[in-house]
Amino acid sequence: MPECTDLIGRISPKLRQVFMTESRVLISASSGTGLWEGAVRNTVNRKALNCVNGAFSDRWREVTELNGKANEVLEVEWGQPILPEMVAERLATGEFDAITIVHNETSVGVLNPVAEIAAAVRSAPNGDEIMILVDAVSSMAGVKLEFDAWDLDVALTSSQKAFALPAGLSFAAVSDRAMAKAKTVPNRGYYFDFITLDKSLQKNQTPATPAISLLFALDAQLDAFMAEGLENRYARHLSMRDRTIQWAQAQGLPLFSAAGYESPTVSCFDNQAGINISALNKYLREQGMIISNGYGARLKDKTFRIAHMGDIQMSDLEELFTAIESYL
Ligand SMILES: *Cc1c(COP(=O)(O)O)cnc(C)c1O
Repeated sequence: MPECTDLIGRISPKLRQVFMTESRVLISASSGTGLWEGAVRNTVNRKALNCVNGAFSDRWREVTELNGKANEVLEVEWGQPILPEMVAERLATGEFDAITIVHNETSVGVLNPVAEIAAAVRSAPNGDEIMILVDAVSSMAGVKLEFDAWDLDVALTSSQKAFALPAGLSFAAVSDRAMAKAKTVPNRGYYFDFITLDKSLQKNQTPATPAISLLFALDAQLDAFMAEGLENRYARHLSMRDRTIQWAQAQGLPLFSAAGYESPTVSCFDNQAGINISALNKYLREQGMIISNGYGARLKDKTFRIAHMGDIQMSDLEELFTAIESYL
């Protein structure tokens, strides 16, 4: 209906501003995981290099394999960053046509240097043909990501992380290079076919039923981003990160993430002190707050995470810190 076309027409330019792109930002009625599948289904013909430094990047590797794409894995110790020189070394063989990288590894609180990694990819022997696929699920709208300036091919995100919306929508900026590549890739699937999604988007439509209620929320939230100012929003996230680390250091709680790569949206701590995280959370819940235990079997109880993303304000964090201190 025309009301929905108008709604998507209002949303699209604002989404492009957030992704810092003049190309398209596809809208999907799925969570971000769907677009992981979409990114590899649409752009990989030969072999993908999956960069892994935590649980989410490892799952994107699994998604790549389960979609039948050939791959190799560049894995570093979880909590450490992926560095441009490591990527360059692996791409030197010239056999890859895509890399997957998670901008902000939520499981370990590490921000990978995607701008520098993208530059390293472009300097590889066949660098111009390599698709740079970026998961920006827990960074987009909280950390500056310059899609066009960094020369990325796909950057995807979900509605329920730094966008601070209900779950159920995901978005992907897609370069012209990636759209041209998609035309050469057989078996792109149906629901996440970038060509179909793009064709509809050009008419401010979606190929299947859109999640209309969530699109209204998105339209309002994008206006809120613009009212705050994107630069102010990024700065707020950085100061919440700095305050969280400073507070933790004063409590004698060491960081788990590598120094210099600490995420602006979620801080991950090494639970050397053996704090009982579920008991702490039970206490916090009574006051309407919660933190996250370490992600998955490998990191549970060994680490814990404090989120400072989306609409969270410094005053919320101060309230949380006071509560944790009184528990400890
Ligand atoms: C949450 C998360 C995902 C999964 O996204 P869904 O929207 O839950 O499908 C993927 N990558 C990262 C880095 C995440 O934080």
